[in-house]
Amino acid sequence: MLFPLIKDVLSFPPDSRKLTVRGWIRTKRELKNLVFIELNDGSSLRGLQCAFDRDVHKLAGILDEAGTGASVEIEGILVSSPAAGQELELASKSIRLIGPAPSESRPGIPAYPLQKKRHSLDFLREIAHLRPRTNTFAAVTRLRSRLAFAIHQFFQRNGYQYIHTPIITANDAEGAGAMFQVTTLNLETPRTSSPVDYSQDFFGRKTGLTVSGQLEAETYAAALSRVYTFGPTFRAEHSNTTRHLAEFWMVEPETAFADLDDNMNLAEEFLKFLITTALEDCGEELAFFDTHYEKGLRENLETLTRSPFTRVSYTSAIAELEKNAGAFEFKPAWGCDLQSEHERYLTETVFRGPLIVTDYPKEIKAFYMKLNDDGRTVRAMDVLVPRLGEIIGGSQREEHLEKLQTRMTELGMNTTGYQWYLDLRRYGTTPHSGFGLGFERLIQYLTGMTNIRDVIPYPRTAGQAEY
Ligand code: ATP
Ligand code: MN
Repeated sequence: MLFPLIKDVLSFPPDSRKLTVRGWIRTKRELKNLVFIELNDGSSLRGLQCAFDRDVHKLAGILDEAGTGASVEIEGILVSSPAAGQELELASKSIRLIGPAPSESRPGIPAYPLQKKRHSLDFLREIAHLRPRTNTFAAVTRLRSRLAFAIHQFFQRNGYQYIHTPIITANDAEGAGAMFQVTTLNLETPRTSSPVDYSQDFFGRKTGLTVSGQLEAETYAAALSRVYTFGPTFRAEHSNTTRHLAEFWMVEPETAFADLDDNMNLAEEFLKFLITTALEDCGEELAFFDTHYEKGLRENLETLTRSPFTRVSYTSAIAELEKNAGAFEFKPAWGCDLQSEHERYLTETVFRGPLIVTDYPKEIKAFYMKLNDDGRTVRAMDVLVPRLGEIIGGSQREEHLEKLQTRMTELGMNTTGYQWYLDLRRYGTTPHSGFGLGFERLIQYLTGMTNIRDVIPYPRTAGQAEY
């Protein structure tokens, strides 16, 4: 039998039942004859207060050893707590040390690094393997887990099939970002021939890690109508920002027989569902982030679930930005991509809320986006939110074979590797649309964490993949 989780214990009545709990010691407070241990097992923000009577039980030796960070098993009876701020405590009879954690350095074992009550996020990033023992990272982790499940709930309820698109791929899709190469060619010995002969490589061609599962998802949407992918995505970006990782998780629904309006409605409904789930099921975590990371977080999220997302064309958005051009490092101008400072200004100052920007110039968007009748803009949509900027990027796809081929030729793309993709437009083509939500950006938004490295267990960024 598994031991009860502290989360569950905390919901029991104080009925003097006998209990054995396991976890890690967060704090130990010693009074004259009493010792209080706060035990946490990561199942909830709150720990279980365990009270020991030092003399009666002759536990002094073990209690001295059992410092912050040690894993222990404690047996006692559950009673109501006389202390303020908690309902229950475990009147503890015995304690067994499972794994000690020295509070002072010993030969060969430095002291447990998490002795203080609060540590800087920078410091914690350097001990990524121990940071889940902190309130912040345990809360991020629980919220992340719940939201990953919510993503499946939303799509499964709406008739979407979960597709596992490949991680290794030969299509460097859409130029969404620089690709990491995957090869078994020997890089250790100097090359004699140049250029590289990829027919000798493992797959007989040049391959890399996927930058998006979209193109493959499209093939399944063209058969199963509604599909989604949710998996690791890789971009060899050197951009050292608080919103970019080299390895992140992306959610990509693709819907057949759906135009851009359907796509925008889906994105809005989806985000609202995810936020509502967090509000309903992660209340403890949100309250924590509200107190420690972003004042008013909960209220902002509640407001967002009630307000319709403003929709505005790229052209109007640029006009808004031009009214205040002096405020920006990058001058806004029609044809330029929106910088993060522009995105934030639009959501935080002009429209004061979530925003969907549509119909971008074709030059700054991917080849597969559907061309508008004006011949200059495409049916793209980006969902922008205050504080973060872009959280979702998507579009209606070009479903006409000739138009797509023309665009690919214009861009100098080699269509030979894309015959399979063009086949979708040759056989039973349909209007279809989709988008990509960066899962870590969502978690950033829900927690108020400012650095994306703090919402994924082991962040991968340029120069950082230690463990
Ligand atoms: P950005 O302009 O913010 O760099 P993008 O336009 O390159 O993003 P898309 O190709 O539209 O990104 O990807 C869809 C979504 O994936 C984005 O809206 C964002 O939420 C997320 N995303 C993209 N790149 C990254 C990254 N390097 N790290 C984390 N999330 C990302
Ligand atoms: Mn984008």
